[in-house]
Amino acid sequence: MDTKITLTQAKKMLATKECSSTELVQSFIKEATAKRDLNCFITETFDDALAQAAEADKRIASGNALALDGLPIANKDLYCTQGVRTTAGSNILKNFIPPYESTVSDNLKKAGAISLGKLNMDEFAMGSGNLNSAYGPVINPWRSTADPEKDLVPGGSSGGSAAAIAAGLCLGATASDTGGSIRQPAAFCGITGIKPTYGLCSRWGMVAFASSLDQAGPMAHTIADCALLLQHMASYDDKDATSLNVTIPDYTANLKPAAKGLRVGLPKEYLEGLNQEGQDLLQKGINWLKAEGAEIVDISLKMTAAALPTYYIIAPAEASANLARYDGVRYGARVDSLTLDEMYQNTRHDGFGAEVKRRIMIGTYVLSAGYYDAYYTRAQKVKKLISQDFDNAFEKVDVILTPTTPSAAFGLHDSNNDPVAMYLNDIYTVTVNLAELPGISVPVGLSNDGLPLGLQLIGPKLSEQLLFNVGLTLEQAAQFPHFKAI
Ligand code: GLN
Repeated sequence: MDTKITLTQAKKMLATKECSSTELVQSFIKEATAKRDLNCFITETFDDALAQAAEADKRIASGNALALDGLPIANKDLYCTQGVRTTAGSNILKNFIPPYESTVSDNLKKAGAISLGKLNMDEFAMGSGNLNSAYGPVINPWRSTADPEKDLVPGGSSGGSAAAIAAGLCLGATASDTGGSIRQPAAFCGITGIKPTYGLCSRWGMVAFASSLDQAGPMAHTIADCALLLQHMASYDDKDATSLNVTIPDYTANLKPAAKGLRVGLPKEYLEGLNQEGQDLLQKGINWLKAEGAEIVDISLKMTAAALPTYYIIAPAEASANLARYDGVRYGARVDSLTLDEMYQNTRHDGFGAEVKRRIMIGTYVLSAGYYDAYYTRAQKVKKLISQDFDNAFEKVDVILTPTTPSAAFGLHDSNNDPVAMYLNDIYTVTVNLAELPGISVPVGLSNDGLPLGLQLIGPKLSEQLLFNVGLTLEQAAQFPHFKAI
């Protein structure tokens, strides 16, 4: 059967017995096998998925179907999965088989979702093009009309998740976002992705990058699909000290288009330097929301320019501390050497890729005695100011509308190895992580070259329902060609 379906459609098909979970899973396995050249999966667990589908079919037949029963999804290879290799895109974890399951993947499993395997990603979630994976790059299933031969990046770091959904290899996927890694690849691949409020989903069992910014979230074709997945990913977890103890609303039951009477903020700082294509797309978004009764309000988020520099102090600082555990003793690979010090050095030299080493060096520097206050403490103060900027804005507006990315997907070989140019990809997304807010990317249009572009909605803490509902207004107006790349 065709894999050009949404998660919500597949759920209905299972409920009405139009197909079985086994048929569904078989079709997605077939597609994933046929499209192995996209390099979306690091590890496939197809046999296990088929065994789970048989169990799901039994439950469905007996009228005891679980909320996501029998639906094939896949996990970013950042989520520890019990008994299934988890690499975080790194060589240093190439043989790591976790003895435990992350709370997020466990929640999905308990809701009946079936994982087809582990999805490719930038090493330790550091990157914006999936070019930093030790398992090779992922190819975006979309092609530009100007140069259809050219392979494009899917975005990063959740590039495998985004490309797998866009290519019809799974119905939805887990992803993670520290500075934009759900929203930017979602925009590049023409799918939907939400980074929830910090703490809504548990970080337990998620390989850590920058603990004060990391947040789990779903990616899928549509808003309704993401609402359904987030519902079953989020939970209070006493194993994560930063987990929010809140009741998770029924996002699906409460899903309805919203715009009427809402004040939508347009931050002037996000318009500066935006190219014509981006401006036109934003204008479309404004017109759609206005047509449904929203009021557009010009706002200023004056700390915006400080966001990327602040992120590139805090994230590497926390990464350097988090990655200290990969020492050849406690986890993963070891390069045997004559002395203990040499063993540490050789293990980390061989195990980590160039971008990860760069971040560890930056992080170690900004945390070193004498520089700690000048960099890390100061960055934490600026982080607070960025949050206050948003707090002030949300006194005047209900949601904020911005582009998700400064451009559409770029070529696999376009990047001139300039890390700073790569960091600019997240210019519209990092502020949201620093302020611990939810942000969603909705695919709403195509570039002049026929590539997907997204708009981002940002809301106050725990406003996920509002983002889904306003996002639905955009989705319905945009009529994005969800399956064009398949
Ligand atoms: N692209 C950003 C970085 O390289 C953000 C990554 C992320 O959100 N995990 O750090």
